[in-house]
Amino acid sequence: MPAQPLNDTRRLCVHTITTKPLSMEQVLEHYPKYGVAGITVWRQALEGRDVAQTGKQLRNAGMSIVSLCRGGFFPAADEAGRKKAIGENIEAIDEAATLGAPLVVLVCGAVPGQPLDESRKQIADGIAAVAGHAQKVGVKLAVEPLHPMYADSRSAINTMRQANDLCEALKMPNVGVAVDVYHLWWDPELQSEIARCGRNGHLYAFHICDWRTPTEDLLNDRGLMGDGCIDVRQIRGWVEDAGFDGFNEVEVFSNRYWAMDQRMYLERIVDAYKTKS
Ligand code: ZN
Repeated sequence: MPAQPLNDTRRLCVHTITTKPLSMEQVLEHYPKYGVAGITVWRQALEGRDVAQTGKQLRNAGMSIVSLCRGGFFPAADEAGRKKAIGENIEAIDEAATLGAPLVVLVCGAVPGQPLDESRKQIADGIAAVAGHAQKVGVKLAVEPLHPMYADSRSAINTMRQANDLCEALKMPNVGVAVDVYHLWWDPELQSEIARCGRNGHLYAFHICDWRTPTEDLLNDRGLMGDGCIDVRQIRGWVEDAGFDGFNEVEVFSNRYWAMDQRMYLERIVDAYKTKS
């Protein structure tokens, strides 16, 4: 069954990075006005703030806190670097618990020049080292596979199959996957691997945006749904067929959108959400 258009915003979540120029005060004021029901908080948006208090303010504004972005970056060239990464992930997990975010998204990491297999092993070890603590404080962890163009330095986990393999091998009750259409839309195995993820109970999050042609910046030139070539609605259908009923999270890093009036941009986000996803 093809997915139906979303005619309301009850499952719309926006990542704070999407509207990076807005302060947390402005987020608290504007997101609810535009019908944004969920929020994923990027850690830089919490800098200098009382984290528990901010969590309370977000909930009082009527929003669900969907996740905290982000942890990860487990691989390192030496033991000291890997230990440091584990400490930083424990901090991120504790911050999520304090904020009241049920999930931390993991950008798993990679070291330029280090074999990808070695980085994958370090990622598995790193997650295994922090997942028990996350479980204790009530936080889940979502492995986010990244597009292979980032395999050099940002993540050695690049497909749903790899993320599924990793979660199955780890066998932790609180480690699953974040599906981001930007990273995964090209994969011929995407539908079957999403179904596998759902069967395992590992489908934790769904991130949406679009792939612009040409993409002028590898990091900060994402499009809004409808700006590019990703069939977001089809992938949402696959995710829903796999049992996912959580938030659709708009995560866009875009120099061109950050330069816009952010209230007009929020209007565009809501329109693109309703008509193109
Ligand atoms: Zn994402």
